[in-house]
Amino acid sequence: MKTIDVQKARAETRGVEKVTHLNNAGSSLMPIPVADALYGYLQAEEMQGGYETVASESAALENFYTASAKLLNCSAAEIAYIENATRAWDMAFYSFKFEPGDKILTSIAEYGSNLIGMIQQANRFGAEIVFVPDDEHGQLDVAALENMIDERVKLIAISHIPTGGGLVNPAAAVGKIANGAGIPYLLDSCQGVGQLHLDVQEIGCDILSGTGRKFLRGPRGTGLLYVRQSLIEQLEPILLDQHAATLTSSTSYTIREDAKRFENWEQYFAGKAALGVAIDYALEWGLDNIQTRIYELAADLRSKLSALDGVTVTDEGIERCGLVTFYAEQVPALDIKAAMTAANINVSVSSGSGSFVSFEKRGLTSLVRASVHYYNTTAEIDRFIDVLGKRLKE
Ligand SMILES: *Cc1c(COP(=O)(O)O)cnc(C)c1O
Repeated sequence: MKTIDVQKARAETRGVEKVTHLNNAGSSLMPIPVADALYGYLQAEEMQGGYETVASESAALENFYTASAKLLNCSAAEIAYIENATRAWDMAFYSFKFEPGDKILTSIAEYGSNLIGMIQQANRFGAEIVFVPDDEHGQLDVAALENMIDERVKLIAISHIPTGGGLVNPAAAVGKIANGAGIPYLLDSCQGVGQLHLDVQEIGCDILSGTGRKFLRGPRGTGLLYVRQSLIEQLEPILLDQHAATLTSSTSYTIREDAKRFENWEQYFAGKAALGVAIDYALEWGLDNIQTRIYELAADLRSKLSALDGVTVTDEGIERCGLVTFYAEQVPALDIKAAMTAANINVSVSSGSGSFVSFEKRGLTSLVRASVHYYNTTAEIDRFIDVLGKRLKE
């Protein structure tokens, strides 16, 4: 396995000269090829017109689908371009119709916005949301899930990686159970795309949602949705336009047969072209290489954090990824973030809304989240630890 040439990665990232960026789970620094593709596209729109740029940049726009298909090991017809991961997830989720007594199985780690959607639909249809408990490692309990399967379970919808922690849920083990029982499986892998080697055939998910701006290093306002071909035609999107459907008379329409039925006609085209470049760029590094490098940096950061007095690392699970979360007894999370900002280090604070059920269960309110990417360095981690150590002693 080739390793990441970190110097090259940094030379191709203008932002690293300005800031120590440990907020990759929020939004990564775009690399030069992605940023330049975005600016170039916008310039073309400025100089020749938006519709005309769709025509002249058609290959770059089409590349988004082929690159995504390669990234996830699916076909391009199974990919939709959507403005963010939440709306991608929604477009699939809200297509399901439930009956009174139907069950939606979900994870303790579930993303807050997804849970809001589930509650809304459960209330509307009289369905029930059932949380699969975590095991002793803090990851989704696969054996418990197996025991919860019955004929009332109509959907398994879980988060691969929570927004507020380093946990990686056993997505492929869940896939085996879902596939064995013939239950549709919706995976929120918003933090997984661009960070992990992802293969929807290996995982066995029928639907996967992801965002552009996080570990894929694409622009903000971009996202993607994968839906397995066999499921696409069973899911009528709750919102349709004349890109997703075609009027066949004044009283009827047909819906397109590919995953573009989940898209809007009007899109952020510059973002689409740039996201295609970002995915190609990630594929060039190799997702296995990226994952290995991120896991190593995160493990190093966790062990250095654990050595600090008063600091508790809160990441759960057997497998832990690039999201590193912690709190300090002496200093509130927001004050730690402020100290980092003053030292030109970007981190974020997870306040709990995104990981509501998990935080509530563990009695957590506010965590510092430092999330590493392959272009970060050990020197940056050491600087972060240094600034933190000094702030804790104030
Ligand atoms: C960030 C995040 C989302 C939402 O992604 P958007 O692109 O902001 O909609 C969904 N799920 C998880 C687990 C996330 O971390």
